[in-house]
Amino acid sequence: MEKILVVEDEPDMVMGLKDNLEYEGYTVVTAADGVEGIEMATKELPDLIILDLMLPKKDGYDVCKELRSKGVDIPIIMLTAKSQELDKVLGLELGADDYVTKPFSIREVLARIRAVLRRKGGRPQKLDSYEFGNVQVDFRKSCVSKSGKTLDLSHYENEILRLLIANKDDPVSRNRLLDEVWGYDLFPTTRTIDNHIVKLRQKVEDDPKNPAHVMTVHGIGYKFVD
Ligand code: CA
Repeated sequence: MEKILVVEDEPDMVMGLKDNLEYEGYTVVTAADGVEGIEMATKELPDLIILDLMLPKKDGYDVCKELRSKGVDIPIIMLTAKSQELDKVLGLELGADDYVTKPFSIREVLARIRAVLRRKGGRPQKLDSYEFGNVQVDFRKSCVSKSGKTLDLSHYENEILRLLIANKDDPVSRNRLLDEVWGYDLFPTTRTIDNHIVKLRQKVEDDPKNPAHVMTVHGIGYKFVD
């Protein structure tokens, strides 16, 4: 379930957004001023932030700027008033992904949310299966068949392989693997990734010591080649 943070100081607006978003199946957390907004964004790590421009303590611009400067790249939709045409441009320059002008219809907001989430591809369409050499991977069942033998993949082996294959021929950094496979909540060491790679190679490579598919990219991470 995707989580949305609403940063807005007008109680009616918060209530309206919260009710509607929850009705649509989103989990909603709220913050009533800019300072709390930054706190909630970094603590709750929502999938998307709806950020009002005019806020007590810290306005929407500053919140947006501060989050981006902290490396928080959660999509942000700004709420602006009609008279703030110029501000929209500034908001987008500061790193907002989209904006909605007040007064808005809830349908419009929902459409923007869906579009931004889709664009950001929190989960881009996932690869279900893949074949290379004498290996068939079934990501849904977390297993590989190699020369007629079926081997189970651990959850992490499965997701590492899926991410590497989705980025075939391009190096994937260890940090990206940590973000996308382990997520924000867990912080394994990069050594952990390397251990999973060793096990993965034992399952998919003909010669795990001289891999032909799951390649090391020195100083960066790994890449998959066919
Ligand atoms: Ca406001």
